[in-house]
Amino acid sequence: MTYWAYKVRADVSHLVSLLAPAPPSRVVRVWRGEGLEIVGEDAKTLAKWVRRRFGAEVDATTEPAAFLWLPTPPLPDGYPNTASDLRVLADAAGEDATAALGQAAVGEPDHLVALLGATGRGGSGLVAVKAPNPKHSSPHLRSAAQPLSRGFRPGRTPQTVLLNRYFGTGPVIRSSVQRADANWVHGRGRDLRTSKLLDSTVVVAGCGSVGAPVACTLAQAGAGRIVLVDHDDLNWPNLGRHPLGATAVGRNKAQALAERLQADFPHLQIEGRACGLHHLLQNDVELLEAADLIVAATGSWSAESALNRWHVELGRPRPVLYGWTEAHACAGHAVAIAGEGGCFQCNIDRTGAPSFKAVDWPDGGGGSQEEPACGAHYHPYGAVELNYVTATIGDVALECLLSPPAHSFSRVFATSQRRIDELGARWSDEWLAEHGNDDRGIRTIDRPWLRTTCSARRDQPVDEVA
Ligand SMILES: [Zn+2]
Repeated sequence: MTYWAYKVRADVSHLVSLLAPAPPSRVVRVWRGEGLEIVGEDAKTLAKWVRRRFGAEVDATTEPAAFLWLPTPPLPDGYPNTASDLRVLADAAGEDATAALGQAAVGEPDHLVALLGATGRGGSGLVAVKAPNPKHSSPHLRSAAQPLSRGFRPGRTPQTVLLNRYFGTGPVIRSSVQRADANWVHGRGRDLRTSKLLDSTVVVAGCGSVGAPVACTLAQAGAGRIVLVDHDDLNWPNLGRHPLGATAVGRNKAQALAERLQADFPHLQIEGRACGLHHLLQNDVELLEAADLIVAATGSWSAESALNRWHVELGRPRPVLYGWTEAHACAGHAVAIAGEGGCFQCNIDRTGAPSFKAVDWPDGGGGSQEEPACGAHYHPYGAVELNYVTATIGDVALECLLSPPAHSFSRVFATSQRRIDELGARWSDEWLAEHGNDDRGIRTIDRPWLRTTCSARRDQPVDEVA
């Protein structure tokens, strides 16, 4: 590919490939638009990618192209210079390569696109050759614009005649290829976790300052289908902690974030639902049942306790992950509810307060401040502090997808002693009892989430306290 790149003219644009770079040789499709040429496996998946990337209104018409899998990467003196060379290369690669090249040419495209793939030292490599239709250039034809089927009735040109005319002595254009297939985007084809993640469905309920960044990292990690759920609209004071900005103010958080992530990751399936968790539990329980993981970051005990009751009734076959931050993002919690151990409600009281928290505040309210409007409280902190919390939740989310836990547990992020001192807070008694007063800086710790006599289901036995 390095030598090939030397031989590519600087003014020739590269192709973008969505193909799996592996045999067999086959007919694929190419789409042209927005200054790009994009090659995909078939018309349907390519059009879907194009519409996700450029919008539903874009013309997603595609035409056939050839993917030729070569037994060995060609050396520089074997690089095709003419269309005839390209055909010789295909013939040497086998019957399926010859057939794929022929099928891509029979429609007499203006530019025939052939992607060449082979295994090299560092894995699969892709390069491209474009063969212009000789009707535009060949001096041998009487008229420059005469079709290659001249002399035959429409549709009756023998294929050999047509192909001999197409693959003549006209020069080809060599081009480089940029891979944009899912395996390449997520880990350059080397991350063994990618295929499992691409097969997973995740529902993120609550797309505020905690849920939205977690959804973004799940998309970057390559979760194949992500459904975002939130009934709220984005507002100006959300911007300092939310991945969305001014372009989405006034829009539904779930829909706006889904739209952005879908355009950014066109190989994934990302949906936004402008509704709350209660609505989903009543109207689309199939979606929740189909999810490999549900991440709940709604900040609403009413919604999350309802989700927990549904999860308990279902028998907790797959994990639900609850995430929240303590005041000022001084601590954060990721609670994975699995088949064994506690349900979510086991360690949460009637008002929705967790039985374990890391930080206490002298005023009891965690330094919350009132907005000018009555009853609206907020804690002043920003995205930087919150990153630790959302990273902890994202970390547990990946763990739940890749190796689902058998027992419920929680991972707690705790900030540095310095920040606790700066804010005038103190470690809670329960934190001090478990972890003492050490000064090592930020950390995360894992705790079991034990079963208790909670009201989500009265008949469950109680864990022995370890
Ligand atoms: Zn319980």
